[in-house]
Amino acid sequence: MVFSLIIPVYNEEATLDYSLARITQSCYALLDKGISEVELILVNDGSQDRSQQILKKWVAQSVNPKLCLKVLEFSRNFGHSGAVVAGLEAARGEIVGIIDADLQDPPELLARMIEVLELEKLDVVYGQRTSRIGDGPLKRLTAWIFYRFINLLTGVDIPRDTGDFRVMRKSVVKAVVSCRERDPFIRGVVAWVGFKQRPFPYIRESRKFGESKYPLGKMLRFAIRAIVSFSSKPLMLSLYLGILGLCFSFLVAIWVLLSWLHGGTVPGWASTSIAITLSQSFVFILLGIQGLYVARIHDEALERPRYLIRSED
Ligand code: UDP
Ligand code: MG
Repeated sequence: MVFSLIIPVYNEEATLDYSLARITQSCYALLDKGISEVELILVNDGSQDRSQQILKKWVAQSVNPKLCLKVLEFSRNFGHSGAVVAGLEAARGEIVGIIDADLQDPPELLARMIEVLELEKLDVVYGQRTSRIGDGPLKRLTAWIFYRFINLLTGVDIPRDTGDFRVMRKSVVKAVVSCRERDPFIRGVVAWVGFKQRPFPYIRESRKFGESKYPLGKMLRFAIRAIVSFSSKPLMLSLYLGILGLCFSFLVAIWVLLSWLHGGTVPGWASTSIAITLSQSFVFILLGIQGLYVARIHDEALERPRYLIRSED
């Protein structure tokens, strides 16, 4: 059984030597545990530092035919999800794993994750962070809000506090790759494809070398993109507001008419008030109706498969 491990790399010169030493060590341990060959797919996501040279040095140094290293160098920085997708498309293993290059996800856990996958006949075992000792308070807070908010907005049950650290079967990899959307929210897409999945609790370590490639601004863009590609609820907002506004404007109309019948109102006030509240609600409702169609187009544009089959007898 071949195991492919995908490692996205972006400006990681400070950590690569340490990371690859620990990751290859963990992969050697897999060779004694029923894995016949390990394929490390190192995706250099357009690094501007010495990452590429370091990766090439590791390829040149590799001697064990049972652990092969493959480097994919991007022409520029395409982002973490692009790097992972490239790795998924290149992977030829029956089991495929994803791990960050900064050792925040302990590679030693891969053996146990594969064991759980095999023993329980699962399709995905995903790492779930029970603690993020390594991340600062801001990262922890934004991540906490993000995972709760995205589940509220989307129909897909995206597991909380997970990253892309996971192992999955070839069938799942094929399903994920068949979702043709650009810049996918990987952990969302893996949740969306279904199959039998289980969390694997672990403690997320701190980054020892180099710095995070996800500062606040980039994280915010990431979060917005994730929400937009998994939820059309924001598009429906104006429809709901319009319907609510319409109910409200009927109440306003009754109040205005009663005041007008009572007399003493300024000429023109009653008709103007009713016209404004009603027309505002209609505009919102019409926008919402357009939103329904935009959501439909958005659904089509994602080019996700209509269904996925897990097994056939
Ligand atoms: N990464 C990447 N392309 C990018 C940004 C990050 O391939 O544009 C890689 C990075 O090298 C690392 C992983 O994605 O292996 C996670 O990035 P990072 O550790 O900076 O994110 P954080 O853990 O802080 O969320
Ligand atoms: Mg990290």
